[in-house]
Amino acid sequence: MIEFQNVSKKYDNGVQALDRVNVKIDKGEFVFIVGPSGAGKSTFIKAVLKEVNVTTGNVVVDDMDITKLHRRRVPYLRRKVGVVFQDFRLLPNKTVYENIAFAMEITGTPHRNIRKQVPMILALVGLTGKGNFYPNQLSGGEQQRVSIARSIINNPPILIADEPTGNLDPDTSWEIMKVLRTINRRGTTILMATHDREIVDIMKKRVIALENGQIARDDKVGVYGYDD
Ligand code: ADP
Ligand code: ADP
Repeated sequence: MIEFQNVSKKYDNGVQALDRVNVKIDKGEFVFIVGPSGAGKSTFIKAVLKEVNVTTGNVVVDDMDITKLHRRRVPYLRRKVGVVFQDFRLLPNKTVYENIAFAMEITGTPHRNIRKQVPMILALVGLTGKGNFYPNQLSGGEQQRVSIARSIINNPPILIADEPTGNLDPDTSWEIMKVLRTINRRGTTILMATHDREIVDIMKKRVIALENGQIARDDKVGVYGYDD
């Protein structure tokens, strides 16, 4: 589903953010990306989204070598990869319903389908009845659920979660992890960058550790492994 073939990324200032990374993530996997600050996690994620162009090597996403992908086709790639962030990034002047509906309107989904699917996705993330709320009327955990709902509404095969629990207390973080696990069990491949040791250690999923742009560990059932 995602493959890095000898991928390196050197930024214009000379920083080697990724250094000959080889990794293969299969359909349906749940993978944590860990590592110290500056290790290359964000660059790795951005390479999957083609938000950065790698310097050498190939990045394959859903059987497509995106290093050769034309600029015009990048929006098509982004539809295959849902993304959620630490800071939710919801549209503040749209309701929960409208935030999610908007993501479907962009892809040209007929309104009939939008009206049917938004309540279904709200139920999936545990937000039934909250469709008419604005983001600032919701708790952090609820806002993250909206963000997750929006990221998967168009059924992407891959979901990237960049520190999704970074702004949440431990109990709320676990509620979010349950939602992500449900989505993963429905077949979505999940790649989650995190500094949350407890979550990584308890979930017992694959852990890829980046250090200095290289893969330092890649364990089928891994641990967080850092002291921060
Ligand atoms: P992480 O997400 O693990 O903290 P990053 O991928 O953000 O790591 O950064 C890896 C390295 O690349 C760091 O040394 C960082 O300072 C550098 N870096 C990140 N983005 C840029 C950029 N746009 N230009 C130059 N250097 C960058
Ligand atoms: P409920 O369980 O009360 O139906 P949901 O959590 O399923 O609520 O959210 C759907 C909400 O979105 C409903 O309250 C409904 O009023 C609102 N809604 C339905 N269609 C639209 C629309 N086209 N635009 C904006 N809001 C809508």
